[in-house]
Amino acid sequence: MDLPPLREALATHGLMARKSFGQHFLLDLNITRKIARLAELQSGDTVIEVGPGPGGLTRALVETGARVIAVEKDARFRPLLEELAAAADGALSLVLADALTVDEAALAGGAAHVVSNLPYNVGTPLLIKWLTGPWTPASLTLMFQKEVAERIAAPPGADAYGRLAVIAQATSEARVVMDVPARAFTPPPKVDSAVVRLTPRADRPSPERLDALQKLTAAAFGQRRKMLRASLKPLGGEALALEAGLDPQARAETVDVAGFLRLADAWLRKRGG
Ligand code: SAM
Repeated sequence: MDLPPLREALATHGLMARKSFGQHFLLDLNITRKIARLAELQSGDTVIEVGPGPGGLTRALVETGARVIAVEKDARFRPLLEELAAAADGALSLVLADALTVDEAALAGGAAHVVSNLPYNVGTPLLIKWLTGPWTPASLTLMFQKEVAERIAAPPGADAYGRLAVIAQATSEARVVMDVPARAFTPPPKVDSAVVRLTPRADRPSPERLDALQKLTAAAFGQRRKMLRASLKPLGGEALALEAGLDPQARAETVDVAGFLRLADAWLRKRGG
């Protein structure tokens, strides 16, 4: 594609980053190409990119030969992104919308991957939408604040292990695949970032089990230093833990994802009977 450098494109269009939209741009194409490689896209795949902004990651995604659907909330970027779409020769479509409310199934019209340098203020709600909502992505390659990336991929016993780890790992395989220092962004955020790759599990829990899992993890990690028999008291306490094959004296941070799924099943059985 014959395009000006990203800094020049931003200057030509008089665009500055806006804090309220969580805007921290990646203007180094070496970094955006590396992220696109980590997404393991094949030519002809469909990829939804949330928040293309100046389009650095978008350029790298188009280069993979994928069909890119870019969803941007900040309408100021329309002219710049339309230039990019023209240069991409049909491989890029632009949707001006809020990714939190967009219907991905309707947008993609089939299987699609998601790749994004996420706006920090909506990163976690978007992840929960993609992992537990009605539409299941083929894969997710997402930039988060490093601390959030660690909370997604943490194993039991780690300080970062909590609700987010249980929900993410019950629904997907999750790995931190790249660290990105704050200085790589324009303007730099206060903290470092990391890219997480998630592949949804074929045996994703049903909406009913996920709902139960949300309730149980909220109760258990709401009081993470307490024993399960105390933290889960309103949901069945000691009896529920025993039914799930867990030690009622264990603390939430030591219970693995399989243990939480057994708790969810025990709770659903109890409620059903
Ligand atoms: N992808 C660009 C890059 O890497 O340089 C920009 C990343 S910046 C961290 C986040 C982008 O998401 C911004 O362009 C911002 O306007 C956009 N954004 C923020 N909230 C959004 C939302 N709810 N839906 C869609 N885009 C959003």
